[in-house]
Amino acid sequence: MHNIYIWQQAIWQRLMQNHSFRNQALLLKGKKGIGKFRFAHNLAKSLLCRNLSAHNGACQKCISCNWFEQSEHPNFYQIAPESISESSEGNIEKIETENITNSKKLKKKNSQQIGVEQIRMLTDFVYMTGHQSGFKIILIYPAETMNLAAASALLKKLEEPPPQILFILVTHRPQYLLPTIRSRCQQIAMPSPDIATATAWLKQQGVNEPAACLAAASFAPLSALAFNTDDYVIQHEQFIEQISTPRHLNPVLLAETMQQLELSTVVGWLQKWCYDLMNFHTTGEVRYYLNHCPVVKELSSTVDPKKLMAYSRRLITAQRLSRHPLNFRLFLEEILITYAMLWHK
Ligand SMILES: [Zn+2]
Repeated sequence: MHNIYIWQQAIWQRLMQNHSFRNQALLLKGKKGIGKFRFAHNLAKSLLCRNLSAHNGACQKCISCNWFEQSEHPNFYQIAPESISESSEGNIEKIETENITNSKKLKKKNSQQIGVEQIRMLTDFVYMTGHQSGFKIILIYPAETMNLAAASALLKKLEEPPPQILFILVTHRPQYLLPTIRSRCQQIAMPSPDIATATAWLKQQGVNEPAACLAAASFAPLSALAFNTDDYVIQHEQFIEQISTPRHLNPVLLAETMQQLELSTVVGWLQKWCYDLMNFHTTGEVRYYLNHCPVVKELSSTVDPKKLMAYSRRLITAQRLSRHPLNFRLFLEEILITYAMLWHK
């Protein structure tokens, strides 16, 4: 099945050989950037295909496959936060690495979330539209972005599932879903590729220095690919370059430069950086920033490990807070000032 990433083949075969999940809800969970969305999309397309073969998946030729490709399938319904639908422009490859809170593109305050109206609209889809006798699929992505009202509305539907409906929920953070929703779903842990597989795949996609790129993207191959192609990579390099010389760091200027990015992304870079400093101190190894070994070595030998440890713990809290709307610049400035202070004697 050429549309399925190589690290997903086994789980794909398992689902294709046994369709018993069709009458329940599925929850595909796993880290961001491993291709869960495309997998879910392919699964939906295949289950709706009129000539599905267990070995090859969707036939790509029948009218159902055609509708699906045109995003016009009457029996398929997709729910995502508006910010994702808008910024990805329907590009399946792009969706999973899209930053939900990319503020440039947001029109409404709540569009980072799936709202209750979006779930209520399902009633029409379930009972009134589409081929009424046919099997229907609803894809919710990312499921953890449902607000509480939306989640409660969905729970009602899951408790009394309409016949011939398959819900596919896809999530990067299953712990943020209502436990009652999780327990109503058949949960599938989506695999991440091992480093060798992911590196080989990235190389095939034309990525230079795939190993370093993969490590910098927390070992998520799709993120590494996105990373390699955007102006993202320039900003990332700029950021690392600046924090490589903490004694000359200008937190105000750097926070301003990074404003277009998602706050949690920048905090994530800093977390990985501090992890490398700490890890180098204890094991002499670098996990994420393989291209910056000499700097990591130098900085880790000049910082007080206890202070660095305390700072890393603060970053965990900062990462949690960064998902809420707040003043990006002030928040990042404060984190960077504290970072620079680590080398202040
Ligand atoms: Zn088909």
